[in-house]
Amino acid sequence: MKISTPGCLVAASLMALSAVALPATVSAQSAYDARFNDYPTYSGDDLELTVDNSGTHFRLWSPKASAARVNLYDNGRFGAPFKVLPMKFDASNGTWTASVPEKLYGKFYTFQIEYDGKWKDETPGVWAKAVGVNGARAAIIDFAATDPEGWNEDKGPKVDNFSDVVVYEMHHRDMSEHPSSGIANKGKFLALTEHGTTNPDGLATGIDHLKELGVTHVHILPSYDYNSVDELNLQENTYNWGYDPLNYNAPEGSYSTNPSDPATRVREMKEMVKALHDAGIGVIMDVVYNHTASNDDSNFELTAPGYYHRHWDDGSYSDASGCGNETASDRQQMRDYIINSTKYWADEYHIDGFRFDLMAIHDTETMNQVAAELKKIDPSIFVYGEGWTAGDSPLAKERRALKENVSKMTDIAVFSDDLRDAVKGHYTDAADRGFATGKPGLEETVKIGIVAATPHPQVDYSKGANSKFPYAKSPEMIVNYVSCHDDLTLTDKLRKSMAGSPEKDMLDAAKLAQTIVFTSQGTPFMFAGEEIFRDKKGVHNSYKSPDSINAIDWSNKTKYRDQFDYYKGLIELRKSHPAFRMTTADQIARHLRFDRIDSKKTPNLISYSLLDNANGDAWKEIKVVFNGASHPQEVNIKKGDWKIVAADGLISPKGGLGKSQGGRMTVAPYSALILARE
Ligand code: CA
Repeated sequence: MKISTPGCLVAASLMALSAVALPATVSAQSAYDARFNDYPTYSGDDLELTVDNSGTHFRLWSPKASAARVNLYDNGRFGAPFKVLPMKFDASNGTWTASVPEKLYGKFYTFQIEYDGKWKDETPGVWAKAVGVNGARAAIIDFAATDPEGWNEDKGPKVDNFSDVVVYEMHHRDMSEHPSSGIANKGKFLALTEHGTTNPDGLATGIDHLKELGVTHVHILPSYDYNSVDELNLQENTYNWGYDPLNYNAPEGSYSTNPSDPATRVREMKEMVKALHDAGIGVIMDVVYNHTASNDDSNFELTAPGYYHRHWDDGSYSDASGCGNETASDRQQMRDYIINSTKYWADEYHIDGFRFDLMAIHDTETMNQVAAELKKIDPSIFVYGEGWTAGDSPLAKERRALKENVSKMTDIAVFSDDLRDAVKGHYTDAADRGFATGKPGLEETVKIGIVAATPHPQVDYSKGANSKFPYAKSPEMIVNYVSCHDDLTLTDKLRKSMAGSPEKDMLDAAKLAQTIVFTSQGTPFMFAGEEIFRDKKGVHNSYKSPDSINAIDWSNKTKYRDQFDYYKGLIELRKSHPAFRMTTADQIARHLRFDRIDSKKTPNLISYSLLDNANGDAWKEIKVVFNGASHPQEVNIKKGDWKIVAADGLISPKGGLGKSQGGRMTVAPYSALILARE
């Protein structure tokens, strides 16, 4: 989610909505927006700026401007232009062009259009790939000179199936800002290039920690140039999640060591990607094409007024983002923009995946084209998003990239709020408990998560708390999680919903909750620091809270070592056993069988088998049992030679914890029992 501007505050409680029915309203674009249908479009890849041997060339798409010009500057923020270039219009494609014979490396520029008889404010345009401080002016730099050594050979991990991915969602400051991180480049892209960093007890932090944990991909919170942090006053240590996009195609300055030098942020972000790739870890970017930080002053509005946003019939901005506006992916030039922007990040920065914020503001056709185009660059690129909006939109519901419409899309996954809310309790009520913390009645919804919302003969979708039908055609359409940057961390949620319980119970419940995520079909996703019981001091919407709330205290790794080891074991289990990573709905229906348990008599108990060497697994059968009750519960296990893989809050995927002949077995409170037989 987002919530970065005051207008966004209302959206906080709406953001994680999903299956909740939106009002049945408008079925097509508004009368106001119909005017944009006949705008000529331009699909060339030379928009706004190109530099070649014949000089520096500008091409701005602005079909309804009456005049346009380029202002050239020596400085990225201050001073008057040293030259102003008038631009020439080409009505066939709606673009304005100007050229100079020199390569203007090191210089800066803005565009300005005359519209409705008035010159609008300057803008760096919508395609600025490098920017001066605070992103007010675009910069002309030589990108080849920003490549780290070995960049041509750099490549992210190969992904055969998206269910093989293990996502770790992190914010740059959270990860490195705390003194206990031992990291020198605190809050910077470069933090993740530092090896050998430790907490005060010598335990690995930063990139070494990620490697030790075993995640396959990091998902970095917004890292494009966003609006809210003043890059001229970094000593103020302002914090923001960054869901307030300014320049979509340039890295954020506050994460670089020198925001005033346009090449530095580019180079340092690439160095981060390279370091992660060298460690075998992919990089997924959080992208927020669904709205702009400001309305009339946004770069979209200053280049092509009205075109890039959606409106109601009266011409007012529609606001499905809850942040004051929403963009119009159903319009050709905006659709191309989203596609070309993600392609640019994949090409120039070797980005391995994209997480679309409020993806349902976009239409399914755009998302399908995004995935198809990215697949041409690299089939390993993983695209997923929030299958919901934060308010109503003029875009017809059947066209929205909603969770419920995920089966209309190809190679796109959505977050499952089913598993999330059922396992730990609803996000809107801090005190609400879930399946893993003793609340009865959510068993069927957890099962929906276990089968990745695919059709399964033993899952009764009519009992689902959030979804009433199997909306996913394939497990590769589902991302399972119990917490992310939004809302309370898992730790805080447990502290609030289990208030009065001993911490041991909360630690056990955290392990159980995450065991459900990591053994479920679909792609598992975790929030940075959960593996060391990280909290945010009870603050749920910490989008601009200080580091004292958001930064991960790495001394937790010592204190909660047992938690870390368990998470690490879970990831190892998943990575070494394809039965947890099936690739089709049919496989799941055939190989995953729930044991019959009367959840009225014995609530908070789920037991199932992964049968017949599911998905080529070396284990013939895997038995998975979850007990979310506060008391021990018994299950009947078929007689046989079982290896105990997990029990009583311990896990040992390879060696095992011991053997069992089956029969009546006890599952400890708030714990998982996992058994396997050859
Ligand atoms: Ca910025």
